[in-house]
Amino acid sequence: MAVGAVRPVVPVVQEEQDYPIDLENAERDAGLAQWAVRVHQPQDWPHGRFCVNDRARWPCPLYRWGFRVLLAAGWSEAAVEAYATGSGPPPAGTR
Ligand SMILES: [Zn+2]
Repeated sequence: MAVGAVRPVVPVVQEEQDYPIDLENAERDAGLAQWAVRVHQPQDWPHGRFCVNDRARWPCPLYRWGFRVLLAAGWSEAAVEAYATGSGPPPAGTR
């Protein structure tokens, strides 16, 4: 990169570009979704809230995907948020 060149900015991904969810296999994908919501956590900066993993605006596409997969697998929103932040276990009956 040339001296003085401007670093490219990661574009903000819009909701309509979310990764698709396979509703029939949400329970199969729940393990990967758990990883996604744990790894793609927010970090506050003076210019906004960004994902610590991929630097996208938070909630980033992978966090949103994981969140929605876990809802489809039967988790409550509160359970997903607690698990994602490390303050709660997976709900009983899930893995
Ligand atoms: Zn992310």
